Amino acid sequence: MQDELNFQKKLSLRLFGLYKNTQTQLHDLKYLFWESTLNCNFSCLHCGSNCGTENSKDLPYQLIVNELIKVKNVLGNKLPHIVITGGEPLIRKDIEVFGSEISKLGYNWGIVTNGFLLNYERFNSLTGCGLTALTISLDGLKDSHNWLRNNVLSFDRTISAINLAAKNEHITFDVATCITAKNINELDEIYNLLVGLKVKNWRLFTIDPIGRAGKHNELNINGAVLIRTLNFIKNAKKRKEININYGCDGFLGNYEGAVRDEFYFCKAGINIASILHDGSVCACPNISRKLIQGNILQESLIDIWNTGYHPFRDRAWTKTGQCVACRNYKYCLGNGLCLRDIENNRVMRCHSKMIDNVKINITSKL
Ligand code: SF4
Ligand code: SF4
Repeated sequence: MQDELNFQKKLSLRLFGLYKNTQTQLHDLKYLFWESTLNCNFSCLHCGSNCGTENSKDLPYQLIVNELIKVKNVLGNKLPHIVITGGEPLIRKDIEVFGSEISKLGYNWGIVTNGFLLNYERFNSLTGCGLTALTISLDGLKDSHNWLRNNVLSFDRTISAINLAAKNEHITFDVATCITAKNINELDEIYNLLVGLKVKNWRLFTIDPIGRAGKHNELNINGAVLIRTLNFIKNAKKRKEININYGCDGFLGNYEGAVRDEFYFCKAGINIASILHDGSVCACPNISRKLIQGNILQESLIDIWNTGYHPFRDRAWTKTGQCVACRNYKYCLGNGLCLRDIENNRVMRCHSKMIDNVKINITSKL
């Protein structure tokens, strides 16, 4: 039995639903991920893409620039923000030349990195080529971060990179932290560390059970850890020392409105597209490859965006299994697409149910 949403929350979610419907109909392309490589200098335990194990053959950056020229020809100045991911994008030596070319076209661009290769010279070279946004992953204090990242030097290098980025006033910078049972007790200390480094934005995620993470059961958090994370964020938000948010991937029941700057909205295929390492076109890079919509080697990204993406924009197909009888389906639509097992059309994780199960257990012990 799911916890009943309070009246105020239901009203706010209904109004937000109207906004979501409009956004879905408009489906403006606002974010475009480029999975620039599957190669990585790490082999993290939780990697959703199994990176760092095989040698990935990467696309030449010019192919992506060509696609972005076509996007600009159609969208004019309403250009999406480009987010370069991997693997580890800084392994590529041509990120700067790519960044310079797309900056000249008018695009803003950013990178998601583990920070290991982001020394003073590389940081300046990236900002000199138009970098406008940066996300660095920090997954705990030294031992737990290095454990998850599978690299004993990672923490120190990551902190140096965070230190560099936090001092720069011209880029939008945030730190991303994956919560595990191993680092949940460290949240206060990580908070103090980041506030001390003058980091302005911090996003906390739980690890999706996909890729290598799907094989590590110890990374699969339980409801109690999720609730502690959400309560931590809720309290930290009140302190207003750092803009803290829970990641986008889950409808959170009565926590909606308290732990993110906006209500839950999976924008995959509505405002978000991606070009994957082999040219395939999809939405967020962590979504099942079974939802791939085309490939830039055969068709242009903007044509695919304008004519495809039906399963992203009409989610009625997600009303299966436990979602059929769910009274919050209209707000959640079967959870984030990255949390759907597409082959079996079922949700892999229901945040709302995890939260409610903990409450039921607590109540039954009273
Ligand atoms: S697919 Fe997942 S990561 Fe992407 S927008 Fe939806 S919830 Fe967020
Ligand atoms: S994932 Fe399904 S069951 Fe869970 S809240 Fe969303 S719609 Fe309901």
